[in-house]
Parts: sequence; structure tokens; C-alpha cells
Amino acid sequence: MNILNTSEDMRSASRLARRSGKCLGFVPTMGALHEGHLSLVRAARARCDLVAVSIFVNPAQFAPNEDFASYPRDFDRDRELLKKEGVDLLFAPSVPEIYPDAAATWVTVETLANRLCGKSRPGHFRGVVTIVAKLFHIVEPDLAVFGQKDAAQVAIIRRMIRDLKFPVELVVCPIVREADGLAMSSRNAYLTPQERRQALTLYRSLLEVQSVFAGGERDPTKLIGAGKKIISAEPQVRLDYYEIVDPETLEFVTQIGGSALVAVAAFVGTTRLIDNILIQGNP
Ligand code: AMP
Repeated sequence: MNILNTSEDMRSASRLARRSGKCLGFVPTMGALHEGHLSLVRAARARCDLVAVSIFVNPAQFAPNEDFASYPRDFDRDRELLKKEGVDLLFAPSVPEIYPDAAATWVTVETLANRLCGKSRPGHFRGVVTIVAKLFHIVEPDLAVFGQKDAAQVAIIRRMIRDLKFPVELVVCPIVREADGLAMSSRNAYLTPQERRQALTLYRSLLEVQSVFAGGERDPTKLIGAGKKIISAEPQVRLDYYEIVDPETLEFVTQIGGSALVAVAAFVGTTRLIDNILIQGNP
């Protein structure tokens, strides 16, 4: 596995690797890798001759009061995991490499940036879209793999790829969960054993929404009410949002026709967790 730390080296390695017409798949991450990340690497591997992964904890997507400084980092462990997966190129730039002094260029998907997590984390999606655009320019992948875990991110990156005409195919992989259903997340490492048990409430609430939906309920307000009720039974869990939106536009749905995204964000102690499911109404 070739490890690159500068944009120039990464771009040369990518161009050299692809010279013989090979397809390059790319998985952007913030490290602290788990099976969710590795499922994306395997999806890229299954579709492409070559796989590149980036590890970069992106300061631009954290607000000043958030966990940028304490975000889990273990480069040696991540590198070994990626080596085992047969990753070809690992891009691990420094912050000044990506954001040189006086960097003043930002990429925003305007209509979507303030929805779901963008509402409670102002500027978050501007940071996400900017880093992904930069990484696409540096890595020049044919295909990029993202997780459905971050469903709003998927919608926003899909729009950026379309609007900016990046020649990149977007592949979205399902959420990988722990045996009991908790969505895997690097931030689960923050949870105490008690919080870890409480965190399961998010998924349990989504299952409740799914079951009420399967029973015929189509009113989003009632479905959200069913989900919120499960969350409120766990007083240590503080809800951020519970929404049912169109998975592409992230607009509220008033009546569930086609596919709808049920998304929840909540604080368990000081840890903010997100989860979601897709429900499918009548086409
Ligand atoms: P992160 O390192 O948290 O920025 O995530 C990097 C990529 O991994 C994003 O595309 C995430 O959506 C994806 N990802 C994170 N957790 C999971 C999971 N549990 N299942 C599937 N994909 C995930």
C-alpha cells in the first residue's frame, strides 16, 4: 500500500496507477475505522481495479464547540486494517496541506445545506462538500463510495457531483450495525457502557416507525410521533431532530408516496449520534 501525504504525490500516484486504463475507486474517511468503513472499501474493491482511501479529520466540518480535537485518531491501526483489505493508495494529508493559509474557497450545495444535520450544525455541510470536492480534485477517482449512515451527506454529495459535473460515479452502501442494531460510528467509542445501552434507543425508535408504517400509517407526523415516543422513554437521550424527508431533496414529506428517509439525531450524554432508515410507500 502506497501512503501519500501531499496532494501532488497523491495525484501523481493516482494518474500513474490509472495510466493503463484501470478504474480507481475512492473511499473518503475521517479514520478510526470500523466495519462500516471497511464495507465501503470492499464495495470499491468489488467494482474497481484499484482502491484509494483517505484519512483526514476535516476541521471545516466541526463547529468550534464540537469534538474536532478529541475525535478518535489511530493512524497505525487504520493503516494496518487498510493494508489487510488490499487498499492500493492511502491519502493522509495534514490540515495545512488541505487548507493552506488564507484558504478562502468554499463549496456549498445551497438548497440542501441547512437540512437535517445542517440545521443543528451550521456550516457542517459546507465543510463536508468542500473537503469532498477537494479530495475528488486530488484523487481523481472514477467512483466514490459513501455510507447510507450519513444519508443527508449522500444527498448533498450526489447534488454536488451533478452540479459541478464531476466525472465520478457515486456508490452508496447500507448501514453496518453492531449485533444489537446500533449503527457503527467512530463516535461510539465515546460512549460509557450505560450510554452504549441507551444509544440503542435511536435504532429501536426507527424500528417502531417502520412497524407503525407497515401497519398502514402514512401520516409523517404520526410516524414521527411514534419514533419520538420511544426516544422520550429514555430520559438520558436528548433528541436533536426526528424527521421524515425526501431522500434526494431532504424536503419534508407531507404524504409518503415513494421512498422516504426517516432520520434521527440525538445526544447520548455529550455524544451526538445519528441513524436512519428508508421506508417505501406506494410508487
Ligand atoms: P466518517 O469517517 O465518519 O467520515 O465516514 C466515512 C464514510 O463511512 C462515510 O461515507 C460514512 O457514511 C461511512 N460510514 C460511517 N459509518 C458507517 C456505517 N455504520 N455503515 C456504513 N457506512 C458508514
